Amino acid sequence: MTCAHLSEVRPVQPRTDGCEECLEQGLQWVELRLCLTCGHVGCCNASSGRHAQAHYHATGHPLVRAFRTAHDWAYCFADSVYVDTETIDQAIQAALHHASRTRYQNQAPYFRFL
Ligand SMILES: [Zn+2]
Ligand SMILES: [Zn+2]
Ligand SMILES: [Zn+2]
Repeated sequence: MTCAHLSEVRPVQPRTDGCEECLEQGLQWVELRLCLTCGHVGCCNASSGRHAQAHYHATGHPLVRAFRTAHDWAYCFADSVYVDTETIDQAIQAALHHASRTRYQNQAPYFRFL
């Protein structure tokens, strides 16, 4: 089974250094997961808060990547599958490419004017 949500991947920056909700609530986490759609940082399911999964249920953002862990891997909550990080990196590149093309289209009238 493969993941059908690669179009949800964005070139995100982590919004926080640790789990956003745990930092607010003063909780401890075990490991961190980065949301690949919006940059939310949440804790894993071995942590008491399970905020990465809670973020998926709240927002529908399906894909997370291990954040500041020894091994780099990605997981889709919607499909319950691990996605290889090369595929994720390609999706990030595609999103970057799409973003620059959209910017160019937005600027096109000005180029014509010049
Ligand atoms: Zn998926
Ligand atoms: Zn948490
Ligand atoms: Zn998100």
